[in-house]
Parts: sequence; C-alpha cells; structure tokens
Amino acid sequence: MKDIQDIISFVQGAFGTKEFIPLHEPRFRGNEKKYVMDTIDSTFVSSVGAYVDKFEELMQTATGTQKAIAVVNGTAGLQVALRLAGVKSGDEVITQALTFIATANAIVYNGANPVFIDVDLDTMGLSPESVESFLSENAELRDDGCYNKKTGSRISACVPMHTFGFPVHMNELLKVCHKWNIPIVEDAAESLGSEYHGKQTGSLGQLGIFSFNGNKTITSGGGGAIVTNDLQIGTKAKYLTTTAKKPHPYEFYHDELGYNFRMPNLNAALACAQLEQLDTFLKNKRVLAREYVDYFNSIGVNFRQELPDTKANYWLMCVELENRDERDSFLKHTNESKVMTRPIWQLMFRLPMFENCMRDEQKNALFLEDRIVNVPSSVR
Ligand SMILES: *Cc1c(COP(=O)(O)O)cnc(C)c1O
Repeated sequence: MKDIQDIISFVQGAFGTKEFIPLHEPRFRGNEKKYVMDTIDSTFVSSVGAYVDKFEELMQTATGTQKAIAVVNGTAGLQVALRLAGVKSGDEVITQALTFIATANAIVYNGANPVFIDVDLDTMGLSPESVESFLSENAELRDDGCYNKKTGSRISACVPMHTFGFPVHMNELLKVCHKWNIPIVEDAAESLGSEYHGKQTGSLGQLGIFSFNGNKTITSGGGGAIVTNDLQIGTKAKYLTTTAKKPHPYEFYHDELGYNFRMPNLNAALACAQLEQLDTFLKNKRVLAREYVDYFNSIGVNFRQELPDTKANYWLMCVELENRDERDSFLKHTNESKVMTRPIWQLMFRLPMFENCMRDEQKNALFLEDRIVNVPSSVR
C-alpha cells in the first residue's frame, strides 16, 4: 500500500483530531432542540402531530415530488413502496447484489424473490445494459406484464439503488423498464439531495424511498419517507402505512391489511430541523470531497467523483483501491489508527437467505466488492 501513514495523517488533519474519526456522524446545529422540546411541551410526541405534516411538505419540496409520506424507517418504506408498485407473493423483483441488506429484505417481505443483476463500474448502481440483456434472454411480455420465461413468475418491479449517493444511469434504465413494462422503485435511501440531469434521485421512478437513520446525510433518529408523483399512489401509501383505517369520528374500521409504519412526531421534529440544514450539509460535504480529490490525486489513488450531468450528495465518500490485498491492508491500518473505514457490502448472494436467488455474471459487482472502501465523510 502507498504511504498509509500519510493517508491517516491527511484524514486526521481534515477533521482536526487524532481521536477516533467515525465514518459518518450526525450534526445538530439548527432547530433540533427547539423542535423536539416543542413536541414534549405539546404532548404530541407520537403518531400524530404538526411536525409529521411539516416534514412531509418539506420532503416534497426537497425532492420535487407531489407526495411524500413519512414512515418509521427506510426499509419499511421500501416494503410498502414495492407493494404499491404491484409486487405480489411469488413475483420476481430485479435489483443489484451490491447493496445494503435492506433492499433485498424489503423484496422478500412482500413474498417476492430478488433477481440480482450487475452494476455499472462508473455508478456502482444497477446497470441498464445488464438489465436489458437479462430481460431479452429470460423475459417475455404478456398482456398483464413482464414474465420470466424460465420460472413462469411475473417480474413486477425493478429497484435501482443509488450507491453512496451516486445516481444510477436512470434515463437508460427508465427506457429499458418502460419497454418491458416494469415499474421502477428507487432505493434512494442514501442519496437525499443527489441529482440526475437536474432532477432529484427518488423522484424519477414510480416511487422512491429515503432513510433518515443516524448514519445518513440527515437523520430523524430513525425514519424514512416514500415519495411519488402519482397522487393516487401517494394517498394509498399514507393510508397503508397508517393501518388502513377508514376515516370516522369514532369507529374503528380497517378495510385491508395495513401497517403501523408511521414516523412519530418526536422523530419528525428532529427531521424537520435537519432538513432545514440539508443545503448547508451538502455544501460542507462537497468541500471535504474536493480536499479528498486533490489529496488522493496527488498520491495516485482513485477517489470516486460524481459523473457528468449528475450531482452526488457525497453521503459516504470512497476510494477504489488496486486489489483485495491493498483493500485489506488499508482497512486494517486505518481502523487500527482510529480512522474509521469500511469495505463496501458483501454481495447479497453470499448471504444464506439469498444464495439461491437468480443472478447474472456480476463481473462489475465482484470487481467493486474487492476494491471499494469508504472513508470518513461527516459534515465538519
Ligand atoms: C439505509 C438504507 C436503507 C434503509 O435503512 P433504514 O435503516 O431502514 O432506514 C435502505 N437501503 C439502503 C441501500 C440503505 O443504505
């Protein structure tokens, strides 16, 4: 490995400390305390309250969507978004193997089977060409949708994931999925604020989801959101995530199987205060990304940057190392020096629950799995 000690010193300098440097820690520099105390003073800490409504409005503005629904976490949001896209038990759902476990889990929570398709080397997200070649080899269009000729199952959704906030090649993917009549549900959990050809990630598919877990760009403690430009689907999303209760002054009548996936007002208060600072956070992270670019360029290490016509939110910044050995040595030395770094996820088909899932060759995913490492990326 190149001068690892020099890299460690650079990161310590960038964050101004020789103490432990986490990968991504939250910052509370706005109205967080005020809004959270507000919910306590008002007694509205739970499943209804003004901050939930306010947060949903702020999310609509931030993502340029018609409807945003606050939910308990991103995984639950993705589970419901898939159901709304029409995913049923026994179906197949196309996604990438290079992702966080939640993407694949949410598919299985609907009784469906993930089909793992390769990613692009440049975006680290679902590859439109690989999706097209899988479909042209395995799928057929029928009146009621796209079917896998080999398994006989319906392929009812496609879930691209914007890895670390780098947008997937969405125009090409939208074209492929339109051709095969497959709705897209964007797992935009990591990419709040990222743009693709001037549009927010999460707003490009039929539905999109975000996460506000503690390690994401902004946090509500725990939480998520579903977004869509289809008002009918959006209304249904709110209904399903709030127990599918028919409005009535006092009777309890629920007309289908809903969920208690509401975001509590306490969390929404934190989320509102955080979302107010999103632009500041994004600018702050871009400054760090710029410093990393200059530094890693100077020592000949590939620091991942946004592609033309896209804007990355630089949620987790990363370097691409030469090979697995260099990766392992980088991880060992940085973590031993209290500079937190992490490898990209193990591919989903390595995990016991997903080892029998259908998949393609995974050439790019395997390449990236061996080489991508996240470096400290917090707002400073
Ligand atoms: C964080 C994340 C989620 C959702 O996480 P929650 O902790 O449930 O909010 C989903 N998909 C990806 C890719 C993520 O990184």
